[in-house]
Amino acid sequence: MDYKIAVIKGDGIGPSIVDQAMLALEKVGEIYGHKFEFQEVLAGGASIDAYGKPLTQETIDVCKASDSVLLGAVGGPKWDSQPSDNRPERALLGLRKELGLFANLRPAMMFDELKDACPLKPEIVEGGFDIMIVRELIGGIYFGERGKKETENGPAAYDVEQYSEGEVKRIAKVAFDLAMQRNKKVTSIDKANVLDSSRLWRATVEEVAKEYPEVELNHFYVDNAAMQIVRNPKQFDVILTSNLFGDILSDEASQVTGSIGMLPSASLGDGGFGMYEPIHGSAPDIAGMDIANPMATILSAAMMIRSSFGLTSEADAIENAVKKVLADGVRTGDIAKPGEKTVGTVECGRLIVEAIQ
Ligand code: NAD
Repeated sequence: MDYKIAVIKGDGIGPSIVDQAMLALEKVGEIYGHKFEFQEVLAGGASIDAYGKPLTQETIDVCKASDSVLLGAVGGPKWDSQPSDNRPERALLGLRKELGLFANLRPAMMFDELKDACPLKPEIVEGGFDIMIVRELIGGIYFGERGKKETENGPAAYDVEQYSEGEVKRIAKVAFDLAMQRNKKVTSIDKANVLDSSRLWRATVEEVAKEYPEVELNHFYVDNAAMQIVRNPKQFDVILTSNLFGDILSDEASQVTGSIGMLPSASLGDGGFGMYEPIHGSAPDIAGMDIANPMATILSAAMMIRSSFGLTSEADAIENAVKKVLADGVRTGDIAKPGEKTVGTVECGRLIVEAIQ
């Protein structure tokens, strides 16, 4: 099969880590007889440099005409002086909106080989954990009505959290479908003891749950959820939550795994289309030094071919190659213990590509 992939390498370490993911895809394509056709486009700081704005219509069109999008990361201090509506990160909001990417999937799993990097006590994470966070991505407070007004206490500003039944149903179905492929448990996170929007969220999730009798559903308030993630992460399978709560909880869960250089993510729209990227940013502090960990981006490529293209064995081949090099003791600086030998980005990618079979 032939697959068209739009590639946005981005800024900072983006180009170096995306190059390694493309090599991994080419290798898996060679072995399994697929052709991945890459079309590179700009977004973020690189696009500001070239066209004066972080996202162009051409980039949007190429992404729409592709089967999926692979993204490195955007942003960096070079563009700090840009006005807020022309900053590199604006490209991400624009892509999500334009491509209709309403579901953000962020797995937070602990690799057994890296359990020493986990900040939790060994007895809490014994046996590892594997959480899938499903975050609504194009609704809620980040996209709600906002404004400023005068009050008796001086100028005030407000942002509105609003969710419709349709928006909640759509994201809840993604979470329940994923749970059916996993351990059949959904934990929905809200603040229904205080917020009306959360009460509608909870009631709608319960309606959707009726269509999935095999899936166990429970609800946590967001404050309790933040605590439970560090107290007992093993209790979670799929976490379903809103844009704002998901933003915060997914960062917390990824820190608990020990390294942000290891974790992939997907933003999905209708019909299997998705944009895949590592959870970390463009790491300008280490850009150009050949020390960035390419594993999160390589694992994002694996997630892409599994979720958007249905290539299960091929995705397994990439994930197993990453596990193999970890078991062999291959470490980039971010996941090495003090004194441990490290490899650079290119060498790490080469070893993973060599291990794909
Ligand atoms: P960051 O994730 O880029 O970096 C945080 C720390 O983690 C840094 O010390 C960095 O060196 C390290 N790190 C990150 N990825 C690594 C990797 N693959 N290997 C080894 N070390 C790694 O977060 P930040 O410093 O807050 O943000 C830097 C820039 O990235 C900002 O402009 C921010 O807006 C942008 N950003 C972009 C995205 C995205 O494109 N999706 C996401 C987050 C941040």
